[in-house]
Amino acid sequence: MKRDRLKKLAADKRFISGIYNYCDRWCERCPQTSRCLNFSVSEEEFSDPETRDIQNDAFWKKLSGVFQETLELLKESAKKWGVDLETLDSKGDLEDIKAKDAAVKNHVLSRAAKRYSGWVEDWFQERETLFFEMAAAAREEVSLEEAIEVIRWYQYFICAKVMRAIHGKSEEEEDGFDEFPNDSDGSAKIALIGIDRSIGAWAVIQHYLTDDDKEVIDLIAFLDSLRQAMEETFPEARSFIRPGFDATDPSG
Ligand code: SF4
Repeated sequence: MKRDRLKKLAADKRFISGIYNYCDRWCERCPQTSRCLNFSVSEEEFSDPETRDIQNDAFWKKLSGVFQETLELLKESAKKWGVDLETLDSKGDLEDIKAKDAAVKNHVLSRAAKRYSGWVEDWFQERETLFFEMAAAAREEVSLEEAIEVIRWYQYFICAKVMRAIHGKSEEEEDGFDEFPNDSDGSAKIALIGIDRSIGAWAVIQHYLTDDDKEVIDLIAFLDSLRQAMEETFPEARSFIRPGFDATDPSG
C-alpha cells in the first residue's frame, strides 16, 4: 500500500481511533470491522486470495511493504513530535526492559493465566477423538463447535492480555500515573472479557459431556479464581470504556 493511501485511510473519519487497542483481534466475529483502520488496511492489502496465503511469497512481500511504509510514517510522526527514536533503545533501556519483562512473566497472575493455556491444551489433546465424534453427532447443534472455537480463541489471548496489563500497571506506578482510564485497565478489561466468555463456553462443553468430567469443573473454578484475582488487582478494569465497543457514542 502506498504511503499516501495509508495516510488517507488513517485520516478517514469513519474509523474509531484506537479501536483495535482493546479488542480481542477476532476480526471474523467483530461487529466493528467497518470502523477499524487495522481491518481495512488488511482487507485492502490482502484481498487477493493469493496474497492471503501465508505460504505465498506475495504475502511476505506485501507484509514487508506495509512494515516499511509504517516505519516511514512512524519516523515522520516522531520527527513532528520531537521524539528521537534512536535514543529509545539504548543498552540501559534494553536491560531495563528485559528485567521488567522477567518480572511480568513471574507475576502470579501471568503464571496462573499461562497455566490455564497449557491446561486447556492438555485437556483438548486428551479428548481430540471424543470431540470429533461429538461434533459430528451433534451437527445441527452449533453451540458445541462454537464453544470449542471460543475456548481455543481465548486460550493464549488471556495470558497475553494479563501480562500486558501487569506490565502496564508497573509502568504506570513507576511514572506515578494513577488517573483513570489507563492502558492497563483496558488490557485487564479485554482479558476479563476473554475469561468471562471462556467460562461460558466451558459451561456449554460441560452440558455436552456425559461422563461428568470433573476436570471441566476444575477448569471453570480455576478461571473464576483468575477472574476474581484480576478484578482485585485491576478494580477499575470493568468500568474502562473501550472505544467502539463500550461507548454509548460509537464515535467514542
Ligand atoms: S477492532 Fe475488530 S476488526 Fe479491528 S482488529 Fe479488533 S477485532 Fe479486528
